[in-house]
Amino acid sequence: MATIVRYRDDKPASVKWPTRIVSPTHASRCCLTRMVALGGLQSETHAHVHYESNQKYTDTVRFQYMRCVTCGFTVKRIVAEEPDAFTFASLRKAFQQPMFSREPAGAYAGRHR
Ligand SMILES: [Zn+2]
Repeated sequence: MATIVRYRDDKPASVKWPTRIVSPTHASRCCLTRMVALGGLQSETHAHVHYESNQKYTDTVRFQYMRCVTCGFTVKRIVAEEPDAFTFASLRKAFQQPMFSREPAGAYAGRHR
């Protein structure tokens, strides 16, 4: 996933929004309470090839940069990842299956033969 954040300890933290952010390499105690959103919600679309069918598909990730106002430590926070068509299909299939059965699997197998 691409990022505009460069983690460096040899340069001071800085923001050249929206192209470059220099952040310390480590979070500090201040970051627990001082993280604020930088810029609005953004999204990235990624192209993939499904591992079983070799079909091409895309998924979209929404994110926002969060930056500590005290030390400048910055992270890319994933807000939401929209499932791709293959994940939707497998979820749909999973939800169509009964979660619990009163009878153990195969209990009726011999009765109707
Ligand atoms: Zn901090």
